[in-house]
Amino acid sequence: MENTANVAMSPLEELTRDQDFWLQDGSVVLVAEKTAFKVYAGLLSVHSPVFSGMFSPANHADETYDGCPVVRMSDSPEDVKWLLTHLIPKTLLHIKSAHVPEYPELSALARLGHKYQIDALEKHATDRLKTVFTNNVEQFERQLLTASSIYAGYNPIDIIHIGRLTNNPGMLPLAFWLCAQNEDIIIDGQARGKDGALMVLSKADAKRCIAGIYELCQLSERALQQTRLAVPVQTCATPTACRAGLEASIGTGAASGPTQAQTGAIGKGCRDIYLLKGFRFQGCDACKQAFGNLRRTKRRELWKQLPRIFGLQAELKRHWPE
Ligand SMILES: [Zn+2]
Repeated sequence: MENTANVAMSPLEELTRDQDFWLQDGSVVLVAEKTAFKVYAGLLSVHSPVFSGMFSPANHADETYDGCPVVRMSDSPEDVKWLLTHLIPKTLLHIKSAHVPEYPELSALARLGHKYQIDALEKHATDRLKTVFTNNVEQFERQLLTASSIYAGYNPIDIIHIGRLTNNPGMLPLAFWLCAQNEDIIIDGQARGKDGALMVLSKADAKRCIAGIYELCQLSERALQQTRLAVPVQTCATPTACRAGLEASIGTGAASGPTQAQTGAIGKGCRDIYLLKGFRFQGCDACKQAFGNLRRTKRRELWKQLPRIFGLQAELKRHWPE
């Protein structure tokens, strides 16, 4: 079956016993790569029909270790550990309200929750991921105000994979937008977490990202021109200073560094400006208000277009606000 096929078979004598999940009276030994977990088959079977099937004697090889049948898994040890942390909790992690799961944990729970048909875990993880990779522009804006670097720790290719795997396509546009900030990720892929599995975009998705960069640059450039027409406002008492403030802001506003003039048409400075915060416009109150309003309006226009920008209209039907 899928869970045991194509698993590189580590000889049993090379296995390392996991420190947290080696339960003396366990009834099954799970093996992920070179790590062994001695756990309770009955308890795991209650949570997962897939485990239940894997533990039936007909479905695993005739290996034993420390007196228990061995079941080989095709998952990474890190992923398996996150799963066991929730299914056989040793720390009551799940009822500590202060525990905020981070990306590696959420990724593991979403993927393995899906694979082993543990619906509550899958939903728990994807609900969290959906607040970060949201389809709601107001949620996105709130997030950037309170935690502007929130996206830095995420592997966007993994998020695209999870969004499709778990039928949550609303996660895709922000994940593609994140890919579009970095050509290296589009071309080389990116390793996922500690286990180092390299995630690579499909050719179709890479093309979507490249087309998206071009679109974002065009829209941003147009929005910049409109900003220059609107600011300074007609009632401005200090137009020279406000114009200078505007140029200082939009010339160097992109937190990533180089100005648009320096980086050319697809420079990093112009593909996200109306989505990201980071502009500090020094001007009179009237100009600041006009600038802020225009940015919000343009950002929200662009938000509606994100599925089209990345060629995702068919997948996003009814999953993205019109
Ligand atoms: Zn002004």
